[in-house]
Amino acid sequence: MWEAEKCNLCGECLVRCQYVDFDQDKAVSEIRELMAGRPAEILKECVTCCACNEYCPTGANPFDLINRLQEVHQSLPIPEKMRKFMDAGGTMPSAVIGGDASKPVLSLCVMDPALPPGAVGGRMFDGMTVAKGGEYFCYLGYVHIGMDSPLKAHAQEFIDRLAGLGAREIVFLHADCHAMLNKMPEYGIDVPFKATHLIEYMRDYVKAHPDQVSPLNRRIAYQRPCASRYSPEIEPVLDDLFERIGVERVERTYDRESALCCGGLFSRIYPDRIKPLMAGNLQDAVEHQAEAMVFLCPLCMATLAKGAHAQNLKPIFITQLVRMALGELPFP
Ligand code: SF4
Ligand code: SF4
Repeated sequence: MWEAEKCNLCGECLVRCQYVDFDQDKAVSEIRELMAGRPAEILKECVTCCACNEYCPTGANPFDLINRLQEVHQSLPIPEKMRKFMDAGGTMPSAVIGGDASKPVLSLCVMDPALPPGAVGGRMFDGMTVAKGGEYFCYLGYVHIGMDSPLKAHAQEFIDRLAGLGAREIVFLHADCHAMLNKMPEYGIDVPFKATHLIEYMRDYVKAHPDQVSPLNRRIAYQRPCASRYSPEIEPVLDDLFERIGVERVERTYDRESALCCGGLFSRIYPDRIKPLMAGNLQDAVEHQAEAMVFLCPLCMATLAKGAHAQNLKPIFITQLVRMALGELPFP
């Protein structure tokens, strides 16, 4: 949620934005325009990577203001096909596959069709009840088509359907879902179950079962998804997980706070701006001697897998990687 009273007009958010080249004066003038509710230039330039929420040193959440105004001013030229794709999320067929009631439930959101082979299974996940499909769609993806209102409009329904599963704990495979959970306090909605990030769940598993882990001894580049900007507390947990499975996350240019959006949507809207950044993202991984590109978001993986392959970087979903360390899947 945008918190105007926290903004000191330092301009850092838009100076650091990797998708525009604003100096401090320009950045401050843009923020002033936004605070007045006017259609500042950034509304059209912003590719909704959510990063400026993390860049802001005072926690004012400038992206939340930008995103709200993108919707007000209809700033982004989103093709109708993409709007329909987003709207289809909530109508996807749903299913609950029953499992051991003593285990947490695993929510796949609407990601099941996008998951690579072997992403869910093995000792970490077998026996869990799995909920998937439109009834468990989190709606966070709407921020990427420049819309903020569907999140709040569907937030209570999202929580109610999850609560209806009757689980004490739910593990969220999709980073978007966990990001949405982190937004519930701003909507004044209570979450009546323990919401666990996938990374936290897997870290706790390998921590509890060190005897099952064979360190992979691999160097990987991590593709940090935009939604992780809403769950920064997960970063040290991810580092801990990588260490426990013997994986070195290369310290490259486009990771952590400087991560780039995968470009899946905006490479179709602004190809001249975004495609070179996508190529640069992969090149950065290669230059830092990564053997693989590891993804937390299945859609990021779908977007970058082909390019990664072409650069001799093996695309691996994060659950696959941990299963490799558990000896359940071969390293490709
Ligand atoms: S969300 Fe990303 S692209 Fe948009 S203004 Fe913030 S940093 Fe720039
Ligand atoms: S939103 Fe944050 S980073 Fe941006 S100008 Fe205000 S205080 Fe500075």
